[in-house]
Amino acid sequence: MKIILQTLTPIWTGGVDQTSDRLHETGLIGSLRWWYEALVRGLDGYACDPTSDDPEQRCQFDVKAYGKTKNIEDGLKGVCSVCRLFGCTGWRRRFDLRASTTRSEPFWLATRDQQGKFNHWWLSQIYETEKSRLAFGELMLEFTWMRGYENQHEIMEALLSLISQLGSISPKPQYGFGLVYNEGSLSTIEGLSIVRKNIIEPEPKKILAGVYPSLRDYWLLQCTIPEQDAKSQFATSNVVGDMQTFQKYRGQLLPVSFDIRYKLPGSSDLGLRQSYRSKHGKMPTRQVFGTLHGNEEDKHASSVFVSHLYKKSKDEADYQLRVWGFTRTDMTSEIAASLKSIFPHISVEQKIIGAELLGREVSI
Ligand SMILES: [Zn+2]
Repeated sequence: MKIILQTLTPIWTGGVDQTSDRLHETGLIGSLRWWYEALVRGLDGYACDPTSDDPEQRCQFDVKAYGKTKNIEDGLKGVCSVCRLFGCTGWRRRFDLRASTTRSEPFWLATRDQQGKFNHWWLSQIYETEKSRLAFGELMLEFTWMRGYENQHEIMEALLSLISQLGSISPKPQYGFGLVYNEGSLSTIEGLSIVRKNIIEPEPKKILAGVYPSLRDYWLLQCTIPEQDAKSQFATSNVVGDMQTFQKYRGQLLPVSFDIRYKLPGSSDLGLRQSYRSKHGKMPTRQVFGTLHGNEEDKHASSVFVSHLYKKSKDEADYQLRVWGFTRTDMTSEIAASLKSIFPHISVEQKIIGAELLGREVSI
């Protein structure tokens, strides 16, 4: 069963097959799973933490219970809705995915960040590998379901509808990759109803230790940036990745997600992160924007995601920017103000608040 999406910003991939433009699916499946967890939690369902060191926080198929009765549901009693689809110890993922795009190129990125500075160092660490590529064009996702699970495809359709409207599907989503347009998309309300309908709570009831992304804390700012604001930000640039590919595009540079987060405007170290830090201090900023500093426990994934600039269609002069997060929702006005200091003529076209979305979903 196929779902075809149009990429609006490239999909970053550490391993596009060099000959066929087939993508390595692990990153996409990881992204689908991540969103499914956040949505289920938002709908007050339980989704375990498959990365937890604590076995109590991860689901497991109960082989003993299944052995006694040969009833699959007995084995699945303690398994959350997300693991039922994506698998856990003793229980295979219910589908296989093959993914390909119509086009890919070696990775490159132009940033105002200077060579030799700390950020540039880690940008290079992440992206400047031989296999690092960017995939564009049509993204074709081909799902093969285990026999008897074909009706679960509706969950995939719901997930990809919601992801196309609320976020992105790609590894490194916090750096702007993987925004997609989904022509056959369901509305967010329809998508959420399908996710809700498929929630099966594990027994006995489990509670997750710690705080995890949930649609309840979600917000989104969908913005339009006129051409003059988008183009004026690039006085100088440094290139990470493949120089040859960069040469092809050097006359058409736009601010990347990384620079919006860390660098713009001007030559001083500004951007969304720094502006947040000047008001709230170091530790809260690490909580919200993530960090690579410190020991393993301090390492924290970003809760704020910033797209690259993109166009809805080729004929449009204006650019689009999507910024979304899983934090306090009152952060949106602060983020909107920071964006305005970067792009003076920016306008917020759409604002979505997860809790409001859930309220509407309940009321239909
Ligand atoms: Zn689980």
